[in-house]
Amino acid sequence: MKTELVIDLEAEKQEILKRYRALLRASKSTLQKGDKKEIRKAFDMALESHKDMRRKSGEPYIYHPIAVAQIAAEEIGLGTTSIVCALLHDVVEDTDITLEDIEREFGKKTAKIIDGLTKISGVFDTNSSLQAENFRKMLLTLADDVRVILIKLADRLHNMRTMDFMPRHKQLKIASETIYLYAPLAHRLGLYAIKSELEDLSMKYLDPDTYKFIAKKLNEKKAERALFIKKFVEPIDEIVHEQGLVADVYGRPKSIHSIWNKMKKKNIPFEEVYDLFAIRIILDSAPENEKADCWKAYSIVTDLYRPNPDRLRDWVSSPKGNGYESLHTTVMGPRGQWVEVQIRTQRMNEIAEKGFAAHWKYKESSNDNGLDQWIQKVREMLSNPEANALDFLDDFKMNLFSDEIFIFTPKGALIQLPLGATALDFAFEIHTDVGATCIGAKVNHKLVPISYKLQNGDQVEIITSSKQTPKEDWLNVVVTAKAKSKIKSSLKEEKLKIAENGKEILERKLKSLKITYNTDNLQKLSYFFKLPSTQELFVNVALGKIELKDIKEYLSSEKEVENRGPERPENLTVDIVKTKMKGSENDILLIGEDLQKIDYTLAACCNPIPGDDVFGFVTVSEGIKIHRTNCPNAAQLMANYGYRVVKAKWNKQQELTFLTGLRIVGIDDVGLINNITRVISTDFKVNMRSITVDTNEGIFDGSIMIFVNDTEHLENLIKNLLKVRGVTGVTRFDA
Ligand code: MN
Repeated sequence: MKTELVIDLEAEKQEILKRYRALLRASKSTLQKGDKKEIRKAFDMALESHKDMRRKSGEPYIYHPIAVAQIAAEEIGLGTTSIVCALLHDVVEDTDITLEDIEREFGKKTAKIIDGLTKISGVFDTNSSLQAENFRKMLLTLADDVRVILIKLADRLHNMRTMDFMPRHKQLKIASETIYLYAPLAHRLGLYAIKSELEDLSMKYLDPDTYKFIAKKLNEKKAERALFIKKFVEPIDEIVHEQGLVADVYGRPKSIHSIWNKMKKKNIPFEEVYDLFAIRIILDSAPENEKADCWKAYSIVTDLYRPNPDRLRDWVSSPKGNGYESLHTTVMGPRGQWVEVQIRTQRMNEIAEKGFAAHWKYKESSNDNGLDQWIQKVREMLSNPEANALDFLDDFKMNLFSDEIFIFTPKGALIQLPLGATALDFAFEIHTDVGATCIGAKVNHKLVPISYKLQNGDQVEIITSSKQTPKEDWLNVVVTAKAKSKIKSSLKEEKLKIAENGKEILERKLKSLKITYNTDNLQKLSYFFKLPSTQELFVNVALGKIELKDIKEYLSSEKEVENRGPERPENLTVDIVKTKMKGSENDILLIGEDLQKIDYTLAACCNPIPGDDVFGFVTVSEGIKIHRTNCPNAAQLMANYGYRVVKAKWNKQQELTFLTGLRIVGIDDVGLINNITRVISTDFKVNMRSITVDTNEGIFDGSIMIFVNDTEHLENLIKNLLKVRGVTGVTRFDA
């Protein structure tokens, strides 16, 4: 026994050294005099302090910090300070080493970054789950040093790559946080390669079936695709070189996650996704020729293949806010299929893959400080004390995802706004007062309303009036977080004043009708007028929307209700279905750590049925709700309220049915509906609840709500529906 252990340790030691040397090789390009010694010192400290620790997989813990440092160096392009920090990122948190030790050995800067990393890990990695408020705090560290976030991303990427040994519920929580926060953050920082990998890895754990399905499909046609790419690329390659350009031309597969997104967004099967890959032309250009070379290559491509004029994207002339520069076009390939071609130089490509870290390397040649601007925006949002933490998170995420447009002021200054921004957004971007008093705008000298959606390159002049004040419906007009929060806080103030006024009026009116002024009656009144709160009730009274005669109407209806008994819920069918599944007699779902039988309801957003991968979520007022792990809301719930997530598993199959929806599309044919319903009700004996059909110029598009037993039952049904003549696609949807 003892000898065996010694041999193991010796082999491990060799492996650790091997990995350390690989790290040194990866960081070679940035190493300067003395750097190697610094990295060695950090490595020795990490090795010593983690020496008795192991990862869940049983491997020595030090593998993890080495891997994180390697990602930081190789995939993000960070330098020595970051490599040192990555090697030491867990020591203050997990070992006896203190921040003072770090500062003494490595200096103030390193100590500060590690302090930031330790604080973030307090936010993310403890059992208390990630809250919006904590996320806000984490972003504040961005203001100190963006390297904290970059190393944290490397840390998360390595944890996602090695998550197989984690228990399932931890996998779900970590994967949800990743898709909800880390992937968008990577996107905003321009780390496209890392963003795609994080998305794919999240999907692998959150929606394993779909992930495997698409991976398998991709694999099946791999050889055929490679051949197509080769044929497509050959003539481009030839002419590019003939014209004296130095370029690398190749095909690059798209990520599984982005393919799945396209299938969902366009509601199409895998077979109809045409852009499973993109063609890249990476030019080796002298700095002064970059732009000209890109357009030269563009002209070569579009001479060979017909371009789609709507699909030209020029981020060479105006780079995206995260630094992305590239020329994109979509052309018709030889087999009549659209192919996306991305053209950029090596410098641009490095920025596209490694984000801003690579940008810094070329700093002297560019005065673009998009990242600084972005951090400035984050600071603005953070410093607004009015903003509710959850609202903040939503707004922030929206701003992370959106693409940008560039708008000119009358004097020619450039203002960057998210895609979809309106004239009103622009006004608030200029100044809060300009936004608050905006009544319209002149876009390219033409008068437009405040809701006008701006286009890239528009020149905008805002028209204001001192009589104008922010209105409730402005919230639907704006998209930027800044405008939203300014409008909200101004409305809140205004509303408080109006409500105060309305309260007095209502008190007088109730008195005249001899109704007691108390909470109970106020709530009954709000309910009667279908208002969400008593504050809204006051506001409506103050604005004259509720008058004395309306309140009299309420009085007479109250009497009527007393005679008639309690009102019936409107949505009766749904309620019956739900109660049928509740209760202890028919337990088909086991919940919690020990998988007990507890009351639950099925979430309406994703309509789980037995066989689906599910989890329970403890709600405030409605007990436990069951969601599918691939539910559109799941990532948000698990990322924000991980502590409210409980394990849930389907028990053995029972004679119960579940409501789900099927979308059937096809070519309209005589008897098509008959054939479909025959398969559903006669062959499969499945009950239908509703059926809606649209036919348009021979295309059939139907939605059918049906009751099925479980996923297997559903899949069999889908398979057989696909056999019906004329049917081309059947997909499940969540009503
Ligand atoms: Mn770590």
